[in-house]
Amino acid sequence: MRLTSASLVAATLPAFLLSPIQSAIAQQTQPDPKATEVWQPVPRTVTPGEGAAPPSDAIILFNGKDLDAWQQVDGSPAKWKVSDNSFTVVKSTGNLRTKRAFGDCQLHIEWRTPAQVEGEGQERGNSGVFLQGRYEVQVLDSYDNITFSNGQAASVYKQYIPLVNASKPPGEWQSYDIIFRAPRFGSGDSVVTPGYVTVFHNGVLVQDHVALKGTTVNSGTPAYHRHELKEPLTLQDHGFPVSYRNIWIREL
Ligand code: MG
Repeated sequence: MRLTSASLVAATLPAFLLSPIQSAIAQQTQPDPKATEVWQPVPRTVTPGEGAAPPSDAIILFNGKDLDAWQQVDGSPAKWKVSDNSFTVVKSTGNLRTKRAFGDCQLHIEWRTPAQVEGEGQERGNSGVFLQGRYEVQVLDSYDNITFSNGQAASVYKQYIPLVNASKPPGEWQSYDIIFRAPRFGSGDSVVTPGYVTVFHNGVLVQDHVALKGTTVNSGTPAYHRHELKEPLTLQDHGFPVSYRNIWIREL
């Protein structure tokens, strides 16, 4: 829009200081506010959860009672132990995965490392939340426990150091709220859009929309390997009795 001196005056002065003529000019030259109102689509309604309850459109991955939503990664029935509204890694049974597959999502998961502290570094309450079974947000007792920074709790394992250490003491329940955007592949293993991860640890932002470099690996350089748009969520048996509860996911 070309601004005339009259409209400039009108645009910078409060309305009550404008003469009737200036007001008339202002009304003619200001765009109609209605022109920038967007009424469609109307967002669908989601009822937020009260307290720790999930929102109304969440898929419940653990209801406190059974592991019906889970299985061992070999497809056999889930062997981890359910008790006290949570379930716990049973050493050497292997990783658990969801029966359902997920792509873009918002994930809420609560976890607890053993109250009795044993071991140090990576050998203390190690587990992991593997988005699509391959992109690990590390679970570790990182309360007063030094390890490599890109392997501590809330790191994207060996790719991104958490912005801060928001860990609670061992034995206390902690939460991750994760926003995940699945990678999009072109031909073969070529990536059109990388995966993106945002993580809140106990409500504190620790990963801010970081671009995944590929599968998280313990040794070597991460790389992408083509997979489906939707893949199961996996939890890691790293040999430590880490517990999980209140797990829900919203597909985006
Ligand atoms: Mg781990």
